[in-house]
Amino acid sequence: MLDVKVTEIDGPYEKPKKNPALILNADYRPLSYFPLSLLSWQDAIKSVYLERVNVVAEYEEVVRSEKLSLAMPAVVVLKSFISPQKIVPFTRFNLFLRDTFTCQYCGKKEKELTFDHVLPKSRGGKTRWDNVVASCTSCNIKKSNKVASKAGMKLLKKPVRPSPETLLNNGRKFPPKNVHKTWTDFLYWDIELND
Ligand SMILES: [Zn+2]
Repeated sequence: MLDVKVTEIDGPYEKPKKNPALILNADYRPLSYFPLSLLSWQDAIKSVYLERVNVVAEYEEVVRSEKLSLAMPAVVVLKSFISPQKIVPFTRFNLFLRDTFTCQYCGKKEKELTFDHVLPKSRGGKTRWDNVVASCTSCNIKKSNKVASKAGMKLLKKPVRPSPETLLNNGRKFPPKNVHKTWTDFLYWDIELND
C-alpha cells in the first residue's frame, strides 16, 4: 500500500516542505483539500518508482542519483482509486472543519476556538458529533454550564455527524498559502478568480 498519510498532515499550521507533490485520487480530485493532500518529494518519487502513481506535472528541479535523473513531481495521480472513508472520525480538527472554524453561536470566525457541549456535560451531555460545537471563548464563557436558551443564545445550525463529502467541500473554503502553479488546475477553490 502507498503511504498516503493525509491524516498525519497536521492541518493548516504545518510548514510547507520543500517541493511537495499534490496527490490526486484516480478521479483527479485531491484526496483531501484541507489539509491539502501532499506527499514529500521523496515519497512522490518512491511512488513513481513503484508505479503506483502517474506524474501529471513536474517542478523544474531535478533529482539526480548515479543511475537516473528525474524531475521532481509536482502533481501525481493514483493509478487505482481509493474509496474515501465512509465514517468521519470524531477529532478536534474534523469538528472545527465541520463548523468551518466558525463559532456556532455568534458566527465569528476565530483562530482561538473552543468546544461547547450543547447539553452541558454537567447535565449528562455527551462528547459526540450531535452535542459538541465550535464556540468562541466569549460565547463559551457566556453560555457556561447552561443550555443555550437559558443563556439567551441560539445555535446557527443543529450539529450532526458530517459526511466525508461535506468535510471535503468545507475544506475547499480554506485554500493554503503555498499553492504551486501546477496545482491550480486540480483545485477548485471557493474563491473568485481574477481575469
Ligand atoms: Zn461566539
